[in-house]
Amino acid sequence: MSENLSTREAIQKLNKIENKKGQYQKPRFERKPFQKTKRPCPFCNEKDADGNYLYIDYKDPRLKRHITEEGKILPRKQSCVCARHMRELAKTIKTAKKMGML
Ligand SMILES: [Zn+2]
Repeated sequence: MSENLSTREAIQKLNKIENKKGQYQKPRFERKPFQKTKRPCPFCNEKDADGNYLYIDYKDPRLKRHITEEGKILPRKQSCVCARHMRELAKTIKTAKKMGML
């Protein structure tokens, strides 16, 4: 039987690990990679009674979360802010810096 297997199949069988139940299990590199769940944008939850987005206030103390110690604005991948709010946030942080809030 093993002679009839192609080389590729033979390699696959060699790499496979036997389960507790006796079934073959795919090795780690063949399994699907773990997919991260995306964190929702923190500013998208805030809406007024009519369902409109609220403007980010330059006096908001939460702005400090989105800048580094040196005062640089954190990238979108790190702070998990959506594109729409990132544009607004960048403007607001700059305003806050000019006013001396940050
Ligand atoms: Zn958002």
